[in-house]
Amino acid sequence: MNLKVSEIAEMCGGRLVGSGENTVTSFYTDSRETTPGKMFVPIRGENTDAHRFIPQVFASGASATFSEEPLDAPAGDVVYVENTRAALQKVAERYRERFNIPVIGITGSVGKTTTKELVALAVSAGLKTMKTAGNANSQIGLPMTVLRITPEDEAAIVEMGVSMPGEMARIAKVAKPNIAVMTNIGVSHIEFMKTRENIMKEKFGITDYLPNGSKVFVNGDDDLLSTLKSTPEKQIVRFGLGENCDWRAVELEADTEGTKFICVHDGKRVEMYVPAAGEHNVRNALAAVAVAVEVGVPEEKAVAAIRTYAPPAMRQQIKEAHGITLIDDTYNASPDSMRAALKILGGLKATGKKYAVLADMLELGDYAERGHYETGAFAAENGTDVLIGVGPLAKHIVEGFKNRENSAWFASNAEAIAYLKDRLHPGDAVLCKGSRGMHMDEIIHALSE
Ligand code: ATP
Ligand code: MG
Repeated sequence: MNLKVSEIAEMCGGRLVGSGENTVTSFYTDSRETTPGKMFVPIRGENTDAHRFIPQVFASGASATFSEEPLDAPAGDVVYVENTRAALQKVAERYRERFNIPVIGITGSVGKTTTKELVALAVSAGLKTMKTAGNANSQIGLPMTVLRITPEDEAAIVEMGVSMPGEMARIAKVAKPNIAVMTNIGVSHIEFMKTRENIMKEKFGITDYLPNGSKVFVNGDDDLLSTLKSTPEKQIVRFGLGENCDWRAVELEADTEGTKFICVHDGKRVEMYVPAAGEHNVRNALAAVAVAVEVGVPEEKAVAAIRTYAPPAMRQQIKEAHGITLIDDTYNASPDSMRAALKILGGLKATGKKYAVLADMLELGDYAERGHYETGAFAAENGTDVLIGVGPLAKHIVEGFKNRENSAWFASNAEAIAYLKDRLHPGDAVLCKGSRGMHMDEIIHALSE
């Protein structure tokens, strides 16, 4: 990105004070990340109003800043706007219009980042591809991502996340995807959206700017997404394991690292391997190849690229330590991804016992008690031998598991670690998972030492 401050002011309809001659190469919101060439986007948060860092960012060399409030003798260019976040979105929206390339938007309750990585891998087998960095899928992350597109890019893969009603409409307007992928409709953020139907409606907003006749790739095994029907404007393409799927995986053969399967579509059968555990990754890989083929990447190349996939850190990484198999899925948790991880634990070939160490899932609102209880019940039915709950909400997981003799509950990770270290034997397998705020990676580290 290379924009003059004056151009940025024009793009967002802001009022420029200063020469406007400086060139901006990127935007940022964290004042500690100041470097020359960057333009600061101060956000008013619940606890801090970042406007107070403006003198500091100029002192450290920032090229310019947005501001919602009058500044006293600022030491650089200022673009005054009503709302800094909306201004950033507006600039990104205008910037996006400069590129006539496939922009693939990925949404869903779980599996966005994983699917984004797989789609990016498959598409880059044929096209120069820009993808969302990490998890930057939010009201701020998404515009920042769009602003990273360069004239050399031939495709962009953008992760799009929403937690509140109305958010998808805003970020869809910025990214204007011309191909959409929907991984599933779960219960994450149901606190704000009330029902799964509302969640689907909100997420379907990702298709609002699709050109006529474009494709929307949806998980055909999801009870809600599978009800979507094609219209003259939007063609629904289903991927999954079910017979209703246009891109269907059959003859699955799982090993500890991943799954081999046959991808069936348009009367063709192609052998694929996805080196990441769990059936959900078969779906994610199908979506990736289907999208790659849609943008013109030869199928063999896309399929070969998927074989080179390495799961991102803390997302269902399977490791060995002291003869114990550890499933590190400590990045985050929701009831849907808990089930996916519990299935992997259940499917492992372990000579010893299978332990599930599960912590609180945050942001479930009214659904919290039920979501935790059902996770425990699911563990009991899917091969978990011993269940350990950590944190106040995880008490309901232990209750749902029912088997008192083979379960325990702790308030802290430290207590869970001590308990596990006492009991684990070579041959056992341990899954650790919980919301990011529960820091379950501490348990993985302690057991790996
Ligand atoms: P976030 O809302 O934090 O951005 P996300 O939607 O990007 O989450 P990921 O980070 O890809 O999701 O994965 C979250 C968890 O869900 C991980 O444990 C991952 O292995 C698991 N997962 C990945 N894909 C799927 C899927 N299709 N269905 C269910 N679980 C999945
Ligand atoms: Mg993500």
